[in-house]
Amino acid sequence: MLESALASLCEFLRFPSVSTDPSRTASVAECADWLAAQMRLAGLSAEVRPTPRHPVVLGKNEHRPGRPTVLIYGHYDVQPEDPLAEWQTAPFEPAIRDGVIFARGATDNKGQIFAHLQGVAATIREHGELPVNLLMLVEGEEEIGSPNLELFLRNHREELRCDVIAVSDTGMVAAGVPTFTYGLRGIAALEVRVKGPTVDLHSGIYGGTVRNPATVIAQLVASLHAADGRVAVDGFYDGVLPLETWEREAWAQLPFGEGEIMAVTGVSALAGEAGFTPVERIWGRPTAEVNGLGGGFQGVGTKTVIPKEAFAKLTFRLVPGQDPARVLGAVQAHLRARCPEGVQLELFPGHSGEPYLADPHSSHGKAAQRALQRAFPGGQVALIREGGSIPIINTFKQVLGVDTILLGLALPDCRAHAPNENFPVANFYAGIALNQALLDELSRL
Ligand SMILES: [Zn+2]
Repeated sequence: MLESALASLCEFLRFPSVSTDPSRTASVAECADWLAAQMRLAGLSAEVRPTPRHPVVLGKNEHRPGRPTVLIYGHYDVQPEDPLAEWQTAPFEPAIRDGVIFARGATDNKGQIFAHLQGVAATIREHGELPVNLLMLVEGEEEIGSPNLELFLRNHREELRCDVIAVSDTGMVAAGVPTFTYGLRGIAALEVRVKGPTVDLHSGIYGGTVRNPATVIAQLVASLHAADGRVAVDGFYDGVLPLETWEREAWAQLPFGEGEIMAVTGVSALAGEAGFTPVERIWGRPTAEVNGLGGGFQGVGTKTVIPKEAFAKLTFRLVPGQDPARVLGAVQAHLRARCPEGVQLELFPGHSGEPYLADPHSSHGKAAQRALQRAFPGGQVALIREGGSIPIINTFKQVLGVDTILLGLALPDCRAHAPNENFPVANFYAGIALNQALLDELSRL
């Protein structure tokens, strides 16, 4: 049965369900129809529910009173495949090399959500039914920020009522190490523009008299950090929940740290806030990052101008205790206070998402850890937070009022969103076992 599950996953991966690309809308819809058919094959009832853009696929078994209701969430849409030339094999023609499946969406998120569906199918095959009431909600807009999912949740709040949500869209610290994620960072985005002269100026005629917007942007960006790597914005760290001693001790034991991060990123030294290990800085500390910086001449050769404007695109990763709006307020005040005269500063706050933290020692958390241990018997469960953001997790909490357990199956070198995205076949099979163990453990609570 495992081989046929793998063959079906390859079918799933052949749909170019790129949600951001309007020319792929039909492919996204076909992928949703195919997935609903797979849910029916597994023994669930399934419907493709339209939204203003890409549909939600909703599967369920027959719900009975007295059993817990588990909602498994994932997404069937994927990121664009470019740059195409960097793929060793075609992104939508899955290839298995040395036990690893290469295709766009292999890890994020088709391989992971399909492992859950195959686990459901296997349990129904073996036992005739599932031990819990199940809802499977697989959306087609995660990679474009889930613009229609919150309204969908609100409109179907009764139908989607559940006791806990399970998501496999996070990572494992290393191959074979079962990993339970109980926290995520939030995010707040800000675009900064500095405007100077009305037109680009000759830098010989005016250089030395007019303030250069590109220099000002560089100074403002540089002012965000102190020499010791701390963010130098007044009030930025207000409310930050300190790391607990058990977290620092547990994280220090993990097979993931400075060496692994340097190997994956290809850098020659790590940098960041003083007083914390690299892992603590990613999972438990807030940061300020420059995602883009520009202004002035970008072409080949030299052009002697003072640009009329320059910009920086900033995002801030936030941890529990921080509020995105408050952080953006503090950063804007910091920049305004430092912008010199002779230029105008324009600030455009962008998207934001709250940080997330759940108690890993709750009954659901412990059940998830037991399930992970059963699916990966060779390793000890790692309790981690992640540096990324999954804003929908907070929406689940607000709208449905329940916590989410995050059971990652992605490896650090899975290349999600990048060329040669990949997912080990072993993780796909472990994910099937994980789903079976998880529903069993949750049914016993
Ligand atoms: Zn993604």
